Amino acid sequence: MTQTAEARCESIIGLEIHVQLATRTKMFCGCALVYGAEPNTHVCPVCLGLPGSLPVINERAVELAIRAGLALNCRISEETRWDRKSYNYPDLPKNYQISQYDLPIAFDGVVEFEVSEVHRRIRIRRAHLEEDAGKNTHDLPGRTLVDLNRAGTPLLEIVTEPDFRSAAEVREFAVQLQRIVRYLGVSEANMQQGQMRFEPNINLRIAEGDRVAVTPIVEVKNLNSFRALHDAVEFELADQLRRWREDGRTLRPGNKSNRGWDDLRGVTVPQREKEEADDYRYFPDPDLTPLPIARERVERMREEMPELPIPRTARFVAEYKLPPRDAPALADDRASADLLDQAKDLGGEPSILGRHFLSFWLMHANARETTIAGLGVSGERIAELAKLQHDGAVNATAAAQIAEAMLTDEAPPRTLAERLGLLQTRDSSAIAGWVEQALAANAQAVHDARENPKKLAAARGFLVGQVMKLSGGKADPRIVGELLDARLRRPE
Ligand SMILES: [Zn+2]
Repeated sequence: MTQTAEARCESIIGLEIHVQLATRTKMFCGCALVYGAEPNTHVCPVCLGLPGSLPVINERAVELAIRAGLALNCRISEETRWDRKSYNYPDLPKNYQISQYDLPIAFDGVVEFEVSEVHRRIRIRRAHLEEDAGKNTHDLPGRTLVDLNRAGTPLLEIVTEPDFRSAAEVREFAVQLQRIVRYLGVSEANMQQGQMRFEPNINLRIAEGDRVAVTPIVEVKNLNSFRALHDAVEFELADQLRRWREDGRTLRPGNKSNRGWDDLRGVTVPQREKEEADDYRYFPDPDLTPLPIARERVERMREEMPELPIPRTARFVAEYKLPPRDAPALADDRASADLLDQAKDLGGEPSILGRHFLSFWLMHANARETTIAGLGVSGERIAELAKLQHDGAVNATAAAQIAEAMLTDEAPPRTLAERLGLLQTRDSSAIAGWVEQALAANAQAVHDARENPKKLAAARGFLVGQVMKLSGGKADPRIVGELLDARLRRPE
């Protein structure tokens, strides 16, 4: 609820997302999916809808749709059906789109996530398969050209319940959904290439005095960035209150409308009125038989599901002590996240591994424009380096130097540490010798540490530094501290 001078408004927002499935070929024919190809070079009688051609279901698209459905905690239909939806635009010349009307492949799901540390739970109404239309282009003045390379591209349309209460929640959900579909290889979800497109539907419940009004639902079409999605919802929420004050219109059957997003002006603009489902005249596609989906297949896929990005990130924060802001960078690349878990299972201390991954391993990966897994360093060697530091054989700075050497040298990390002269000395008698030297050379600091409690900390720090310097940086700082403290307590 947001409070204005005299009205209390509750935002009611649902979201439809079109996700392009990562298949090599189209939904119902063998045409390749190639972004940016010469217009109309990837078309055939099926995707052109020529008479006598018969569609064949792309089994890979069905597999990816089930995988996405499971990740969204949906129920999976035991039988899914194909329907024709009337479509009278030149970018789909067969005059219908194959979609799924009353038997979507997945339904009744839920996604849980956090927004600004508040737990949110968004219900998924359904997710169904359909084919994309082609693309109209307006490159020639006064003419519209049609490129049908995209016609027949497999899409998964995901529809949420109107459970969002703010633009920030909608945006965060979209970000999480992109992580999930990429992680599972369901979609590349590249928004510049239109592989993920958003259509929020928005209205307001306004309470003013003892009067309650609900504004007409507006669907904003075809948003293809997180920012546009957020800004369009934000604008529409504010503008609906303004429009309602002006015209008093409230929700009635049939007065849902479509608007587009004008990115330059930052406003939504009216579009053609939305057809009701009746106008689409859905009917079962006579060329495609209903597709049964075996329970055992779904259960097998459910068991094979990896830990998903949202819970994995939360675990990484707890287990590897990663800052919550940085954790997704490690959790989102599945192979690198698996490598981190593997190094931990091989005995690497988790918080040291977390720091190694976030600092130098990630840095080297970025510098080489690859992932941490792409660096080709094994989990065993990554674990061994973390163990060296945990055992006090090397310090954090040395670990970073050894890591760099590990990228080009297959020798074990301990061997590299020796070769680079980075192993720390834990030999107490050697360290005691350096302590005596430091005490003898710095009488003033010793005096301060013993006699003046206010100067103790500074004097002690200085003396530790002197011992480290005498050892060439190799003394184990913990042992230096212990020996030094014992000597400072003892009178001359
Ligand atoms: Zn084709």
